[in-house]
Amino acid sequence: MRLARSISELRALRTDLPEPVGFVPTMGFLHEGHLSLARRAHKECAAAVASIFVNPTQFSPTEDLAAYPRDLDRDLAMLESAGTDVVFAPTSDAEVYPPGYATWVTVGGITERLEGASRPTHFRGVATIVAKLFLLVRPQRAYFGQKDAQQALVIDRLIADLNFPIELVVAPTVREPDGLAMSSRNTYLSPVERRAAPALRRALDLAESLWQDGERSGAEIRSRLTALLRADPLARVDYVSVADPDTLEELETVGPRALVSLAVRIGKTRLIDNTVLPPGSPLLERRTSCS
Ligand code: AMP
Repeated sequence: MRLARSISELRALRTDLPEPVGFVPTMGFLHEGHLSLARRAHKECAAAVASIFVNPTQFSPTEDLAAYPRDLDRDLAMLESAGTDVVFAPTSDAEVYPPGYATWVTVGGITERLEGASRPTHFRGVATIVAKLFLLVRPQRAYFGQKDAQQALVIDRLIADLNFPIELVVAPTVREPDGLAMSSRNTYLSPVERRAAPALRRALDLAESLWQDGERSGAEIRSRLTALLRADPLARVDYVSVADPDTLEELETVGPRALVSLAVRIGKTRLIDNTVLPPGSPLLERRTSCS
């Protein structure tokens, strides 16, 4: 595995890679969710590239940028064991956003809802860094997790609108044994908060069982999930959404597919999770697998 600590080193290493190249962008402090993407890129592509960069432009001034957990040595060992060929881990934010930086990629429409409504500049930061990384790494396939479903939809839009010749692969959410979706932010949870956190998965299970019992009212599913989450004294609901997976508009009636998304604060930690109805349906109808 080779490590690039600057853009020029990354460009040099990229030239020698066999294609197709699979790319896994991350913010580091890796866990099994990230590694599932890295292993898949290694398995399905001739070369696998990962990036580790806590992207400051996707955090608002009130968010956890400074506190975001970091452990580069551990991350590199994990990526090496997953078969990654090249890791891009820039030494500083200025390597990516030098003084005078002024170019932004803004995806419209779906970025205004859900995470975008709660975190107004978040997706501009995500789309900008991902577009920059796509131009540098020039992958044929990019691997993202369904854990961040709206982000995957934004990247799908970005790829289509800017004609990136990249296949988007959205991989399933990897969970702890008690159902909590793995996340670098789970380390913020105190032991008592950690015990409360699987409430998100229980709410998604409830959505799936309501759907299986024939419930098709978006309002009813939202209100039953909200009640389940509010029953936990540590949980503060930011949103419960039952939306069209293409437009993210809230559904009155659940049609052929729906994206059920949650954002919940447990103490100071904001957790997100989601499932697609009917249970087991892919998030993207078009590009779902990389064969
Ligand atoms: P992050 O480091 O949080 O920016 O995440 C990097 C990539 O890993 C994104 O595509 C995430 O959706 C994905 N990811 C994060 N957590 C999980 C998980 N529990 N299961 C699968 N993919 C994940």
